[in-house]
Amino acid sequence: MEVPLTTAEPSLATRLERLPGVGTARAERLARLGLMTVRDALMHFPRDYKDFSGAHRIADLAETEHASIAGTVTDVAARTTVHGRAMLTVTLDAAGGRLKAVWFNMPFMARRFERGMRVVLAGQPRPGRQGWEFAHPEVRWLTADEQAHTPEWLAVYPLAEGVQQSHVRLAVQAALDHSAGICPEALPPETLAEKGLLPIEQALREIHCPSTAEMIVAAHRRFVYQELLMLQLALRMHRGQQKRAHAAPAIAVDARLDARIRARFPFEFTPAQRKVCGEIAADLARPEPMNRLLQGDVGSGKTAVAIYSMLAAVATPVMPSALAGGGPGDTPAPPPDRYQAAIMAPTELLARQHFTGLERLLAGSGVEVQLLVGGQTAKQREKILTRIASGETDIVVGTQALVCGGARFHHLGLVVIDEQHRFGVLQRAVLQQGEAEPHTLVMTATPIPRTIAHAVYGDLDISVLDGQPPGRQPVATYRVTPAELDRWWEFFRGKLAAGRRGYVVVPAVEESKRDLASISSAFEELANGPLEAFRLGLVHGRLKPAAKAGIMEDFRGGRLDVLVATSVIEVGIDVPEATIMTILDAESFGLAQLHQLRGRVARGATRGICGAVTPSGDEPHPRVDAFVASCDGFELAEQDLRLRGPGDLVGTRQSGAPPLYLADLLRDGAVVAEARRDALATFEADPELADSKYDRLRKLVIDRWGEMLGLGQVG
Ligand code: ADP
Ligand code: MG
Repeated sequence: MEVPLTTAEPSLATRLERLPGVGTARAERLARLGLMTVRDALMHFPRDYKDFSGAHRIADLAETEHASIAGTVTDVAARTTVHGRAMLTVTLDAAGGRLKAVWFNMPFMARRFERGMRVVLAGQPRPGRQGWEFAHPEVRWLTADEQAHTPEWLAVYPLAEGVQQSHVRLAVQAALDHSAGICPEALPPETLAEKGLLPIEQALREIHCPSTAEMIVAAHRRFVYQELLMLQLALRMHRGQQKRAHAAPAIAVDARLDARIRARFPFEFTPAQRKVCGEIAADLARPEPMNRLLQGDVGSGKTAVAIYSMLAAVATPVMPSALAGGGPGDTPAPPPDRYQAAIMAPTELLARQHFTGLERLLAGSGVEVQLLVGGQTAKQREKILTRIASGETDIVVGTQALVCGGARFHHLGLVVIDEQHRFGVLQRAVLQQGEAEPHTLVMTATPIPRTIAHAVYGDLDISVLDGQPPGRQPVATYRVTPAELDRWWEFFRGKLAAGRRGYVVVPAVEESKRDLASISSAFEELANGPLEAFRLGLVHGRLKPAAKAGIMEDFRGGRLDVLVATSVIEVGIDVPEATIMTILDAESFGLAQLHQLRGRVARGATRGICGAVTPSGDEPHPRVDAFVASCDGFELAEQDLRLRGPGDLVGTRQSGAPPLYLADLLRDGAVVAEARRDALATFEADPELADSKYDRLRKLVIDRWGEMLGLGQVG
């Protein structure tokens, strides 16, 4: 390749306007895309490619689907239409038949075609009177002198207003020429060799000017791998720092304590619960903060695992070394303090439920549990906070805002965050108090596909509670059409009459005034209509917490037959006797939400039943249909991602996942796993990435993620 004539030494930092052919005016436009330097242009990857290979045959063509087809010009006809427009028709002999290309008002095009010429047409065909037609296709001339100018695959770039494809293509081409021979390779040579990845310069060239379709794939593979590897390395570094920076209490669970804790529960732990408790106990025993994400489908029994972990913490005496400053020598030693634990729920309703459950479970045990939620008087709260601060309270249950916002602990050993879907590495909500950092257990029932979890929660360890407590059966789920509604209510009433308790879920977007009116009228309709004969209660987000708690208690205690509710019951509510549910306007809920809702009736030994009411009869509804078809939360989560498309990943946009340029966590799941494995292996062999072969990679990782993950001190 020729070395371009520039005044400066080739450098990736060279500004685009200094490249031959770019110029100031174009450079100004390119700046709107954030493209200033050679490096920027090289890293501005195409969003798509136009196929100019000419590989399609007449038989492959489909209306409005982009195709490119090679052929020989057999006729060139220029004429003026009755409306006075210049019209050019070019007829082509192609593999499998003839086709036409037409242009209007482009008289100069006629001069560029001659009979016998070989050309490739690319565009969207449509059926014409005499076979397929391309209107204003793009043309690639296969004659000797023009062949070189158009590649078979033409990059299509993301644009900004006032910037055209041709501007970007030209700048990228100039940048490629300018940077030939100076692009540093970030991946160690053995990585490239082992994985069969393209070296950086070839990968850059192929991603911008691919020689074949296979090369597009190969170039992508290299950059996707590199991006995911860098992310995983960054997450590892972050985690390494965390571990070094903060000490955590060592909480040892021996066999005796393990047996004592488990004996408190009215059931045997499932093998999955034992496995996960074991993983947690191993973490707790180490004097570095646990960072564990517990994923378990709705109803899998995460609460028991949380309680187990908290009881381990509150049974453990605080080691003298962990006491700040140590006590004065002249007073007699008081009984040793024990660690405290906190569990935080997303809603007050759920916090109250945890509190009630803990009180029942720990009655007579001497473990003090306090509830910290809204609706308590200032005096009440003051008293509770004092007990927490003095260490008299062992376990605090509350909403995240209140516990994180107000409480000071004496010796906080463990924090459990329940039903948390927004806990990426970038949004840490740990209650760090003083020097020591508590262990953290995050629990989620919104199953995040493992690949996404690895990328999003990359610095957390992941435990999966797979399987359900014994005797659990999948909820029988039906789609109920308007025509079937009467029959459904009859069925629902029959089950209530037989002694079951049930839910009716009504949608509410934000529980605004208008929503409230429609919730109330839905309630009235049920109470005066299909469910007239039963005792109904209504809960929604606007209800005062105490009122809400009262209704929940009535439902739990069997003083109500049916709970009419908005999605406030979506997470965590546990009333095993409630085994039948109707979801009204099911199509207005998300898939994960539907699954969560259904989880409310999958709690007891009796098989749950759920009817998803849709307003239309026969139209397919992808979300509701998927919901009816599967009871597996993980499967549904994957499905949900597919339906929503990669732009709206549950696990990414909402949870503070790191932004990625080229990699797509769903599509590239296998690469995420590969990169994670490789990052682990790399750190095991060289924890500081000290080998010079990592110099470039380490620098890139810190440039890219350092600020976001606070990796400043590394390297
Ligand atoms: P989730 O994982 O959705 O938070 P929960 O912890 O609320 O689920 O548990 C769901 C139900 O299963 C509760 O009623 C709980 O008491 C019960 N449960 C949990 N573990 C077991 C077990 N090992 N055996 C029997 N029932 C269990
Ligand atoms: Mg739960």
